[in-house]
Amino acid sequence: MPFAMPVIELDLPDLAPYRAGNTGIDYVWSFAGAAAGRHVILNALTHGNEVCGAIALVRLLRAKLRPARGRLTFSFANVAAYETFDRADPGASRCLDEDFNRVWDADVLDGPRHSRELQRARSLRAIIDTADFLLDIHSMTVRSDPLMLTGMAEKHLAFARRVGFPAVLVRDEGHAGGARLRDYRRFSDPSTPPVALLVECGQHWLATSADIALETAWRFLAATGILSAQDAAPWRARPTQPQRSVLVTDRIVANTDEFSFLERFSGLEVIPRAGTIIAWDGARDIRTPYDECVLIMPTQRSIRGQTAVRLGRFEE
Ligand SMILES: [Zn+2]
Repeated sequence: MPFAMPVIELDLPDLAPYRAGNTGIDYVWSFAGAAAGRHVILNALTHGNEVCGAIALVRLLRAKLRPARGRLTFSFANVAAYETFDRADPGASRCLDEDFNRVWDADVLDGPRHSRELQRARSLRAIIDTADFLLDIHSMTVRSDPLMLTGMAEKHLAFARRVGFPAVLVRDEGHAGGARLRDYRRFSDPSTPPVALLVECGQHWLATSADIALETAWRFLAATGILSAQDAAPWRARPTQPQRSVLVTDRIVANTDEFSFLERFSGLEVIPRAGTIIAWDGARDIRTPYDECVLIMPTQRSIRGQTAVRLGRFEE
């Protein structure tokens, strides 16, 4: 099936003015409030082609948002990949050498391996190691409604409910292929307080994804308690959406180069009957394992060895 060129509605911000940072780390800005409090990191560009988070962070930096207490850090992660963005092949700027979101394991970070993403992760680690809350802002290939990926720990689900946005919470395990920033031990350990959430704001280059990134960031900040009452009030006052959580039960990996969905799914479809064929992977048919199966982030272009879709069920 040929793929139409994606529409790129968003204008990519020039990040050169933010390069110097004020933390000793390029593209990382951190501001302390007058009173003691928690350290909150808003992180964008974990994937270089997922630009909505960078737009949201630039808007907040331009607005000179400061915490009333604690510390607020703005981090543009894989800027080197972002700077390769090519409107003719926009997906290619996801990373340079490897996925920045698969290296967040102490053994890998402390190990001998080299890549540009690992080098960047190593430089960011010192500040990540001091975060009490982290929001990692992503987007998707498909036009799905936004999703908050909470992981399995109860503390993350509880905090995502306090944020109250977006409407769908996805409880998912880590990736077998390597630890995501959200799953870095500091956050994934259920016995320690730090919380990290990953938001998928919608399709990569739709204007709405930047609006959703900004709204999620504001609401996240309001929920952490570091904002002044005045800054938090408009976001606290916004109605929280009724949230539903989906528990991810299966991750379907494409084993061949001929993986194709039977329909052009965009995500959050609920397939009523168990045993319904949703995709072919070479000669293998992929069927839903149970009734009312939810499709989460079906990829538009499956790559052999990578996740093509996650399957889950609504928990309430
Ligand atoms: Zn991403």
